[in-house]
Amino acid sequence: MTQEGISRKSFIVGAGAAALSAATLGLFGCASPTPKGSAEAEAADTKAAASGAEAPAAVDEREWDESFDVVVVGSGIAGTSAAVTVATEGNGAICLVLDKGDDVLGGGNTRFSAGAIFSTTNAQNALKYLKALRGENPTVPDDVLEAYANGMAEHEGWLDALGAGDNFYAPWDNVKVTSVSAPEYPELLDTDEERATIGCMLFNGGPDGDGFKHVQTFLSDVLDQHPDTVTRKTGTTVVQLVQDPQTGEILGVVYEEGGKSVSAQATGGVVMCCGGFENNPVMMANYIRSYGAHPFAGICNTGDGIKLCAEVGAEMWHMANIAGFYNGFASLDGEKFVSKNAAQTTRGEGIIVGSNGRRYYMDNGGFGNTNLTEYDLRIHSGYRHGDNNRGGEWMHQSLPAESWFVFDQAGFDAGATAEITEDDPVAAGWGYSADSLTELAKLVGLPEGELEATVEHWNQMCDDGADMAFYRFPTTLNKVATPPFYAMRMVPYFLNTDGGPVRSAKAEVVGRDGNPIPHLYSAGEFGSVWSDMYNAGGNLSEGMAFGRIAARECLGIA
Ligand SMILES: Cc1cc2nc3c(=O)[nH]c(=O)nc-3n(C[C@H](O)[C@H](O)[C@H](O)COP(=O)(O)OP(=O)(O)OC[C@H]3O[C@@H](n4cnc5c(N)ncnc54)[C@H](O)[C@@H]3O)c2cc1C
Repeated sequence: MTQEGISRKSFIVGAGAAALSAATLGLFGCASPTPKGSAEAEAADTKAAASGAEAPAAVDEREWDESFDVVVVGSGIAGTSAAVTVATEGNGAICLVLDKGDDVLGGGNTRFSAGAIFSTTNAQNALKYLKALRGENPTVPDDVLEAYANGMAEHEGWLDALGAGDNFYAPWDNVKVTSVSAPEYPELLDTDEERATIGCMLFNGGPDGDGFKHVQTFLSDVLDQHPDTVTRKTGTTVVQLVQDPQTGEILGVVYEEGGKSVSAQATGGVVMCCGGFENNPVMMANYIRSYGAHPFAGICNTGDGIKLCAEVGAEMWHMANIAGFYNGFASLDGEKFVSKNAAQTTRGEGIIVGSNGRRYYMDNGGFGNTNLTEYDLRIHSGYRHGDNNRGGEWMHQSLPAESWFVFDQAGFDAGATAEITEDDPVAAGWGYSADSLTELAKLVGLPEGELEATVEHWNQMCDDGADMAFYRFPTTLNKVATPPFYAMRMVPYFLNTDGGPVRSAKAEVVGRDGNPIPHLYSAGEFGSVWSDMYNAGGNLSEGMAFGRIAARECLGIA
């Protein structure tokens, strides 16, 4: 096994001057790799032989600043799981974990997440469910889903072996997250027996039952026990993947630390766990069309890895897939934000209208709707994890850049603003109130007469007991009739992106030619295996599953 700190030379073999310039370009990420054994490589070899060229010469003698067996980029759940695997299964292999944030728990989404982990006691049932969620979306092949399903089945035993213990987390049939029911699409499975094998685990206390402990904190504590094999660096941004231009193999990374550029060799492989592009407004606009959407977390996730992998020839998949959008609350000045998944409308405390004063979607739903077994959930659920039921199909919910949650005094008394602020919501700058709808509409700036007409129609449907416009649950049909009236400002938000480089069942990053890019792996939401409909807990779960797979591939122990 290699040691940190030694300076190594990497001899990259090329053929003549043409190869030299290709190598130079490749190291700066500008040249497409020529995959080993590809038609292009064979043609080049044949040409060299025919011209009587000399044997390939060493054209690059990179002096590495550091050398490791595995380099992990990103220290969220995926990177941490990969590093834990190296530490516990690597037989002394050494690993470098780099994160551009300033916390070892990562600067991305993981530490802000609810901590639910999608798991199963039956990998076959999980695979059936994953295939149903993927549906007709052609991007993710069955073998990748199978690898994920097997990983889901491994989570409990893996956490146990790391010391989680039976008391440390709730088994999924005893899940403590009341808002998360899993499977989130129960109708996609045939029997209750199947459904009972799939759900979310959640760490719900320390060994003494002393409260919530995030799985990321637990895994990070495990890493702290392995300082000899795992080096963790924060404030380090990976800026380049170093690639052998002849073979396409990834040899290491270049990262920036304190204004200095450091090169780190990765003899076993580089695992990209650098999250999505939640905080890259241009990428969001390009791929998601998300003007005005509020990223919830993922502060450091700016899509760096997507650019780095594109430079070394990676193919991308389902760039448009995200966990979102939801309507959350934003203060009038845009300074304050509260996510609430339209819990208020699910409780029937008001309605949501757009800037035209009209309702525009089935605004009840959220995670809890799977408990409403009296309804046919295929047609009655409003939305699940950002997917919206439209026309009987589940698709991403695009939302206007600004909406208004409108309710009356009865809605206020029922708690419509309780989760936004404990103070007077109008005085606190979250919206407006007025004694009449006309006055309220003027304050908000809605077109004349529209809000009044919308509310009149809504109240009529409440009397009739059926929302024939958007089919909200009958239990949520409460009139907006008692002054004063309120309008709280809403903006769309989302949790995380799922697009990125194509991943194989072995967690390899796949190139544009369909072949894996040697020694380049990925895990987590970066090129997630979630391509379409999503189940709660699925991102942390895949981070753990593919983090382990990637590390084992790097170590050659898969
Ligand atoms: C509010 C919220 C709640 C959620 N709840 C759940 C839940 O309960 N269950 C679930 O499964 N999912 C949940 N999710 C989604 C889930 O949190 C993420 O999808 C998951 O944490 C992603 O993990 P990751 O390791 O792939 O990426 P992240 O945790 O986002 O980590 C990526 C890391 O890469 C680093 N990085 C980026 N670029 C570079 C670079 N160039 N160099 C070095 N480092 C870099 C970042 O700093 C970051 O630390 C939630 C998300 C949110 C926002």
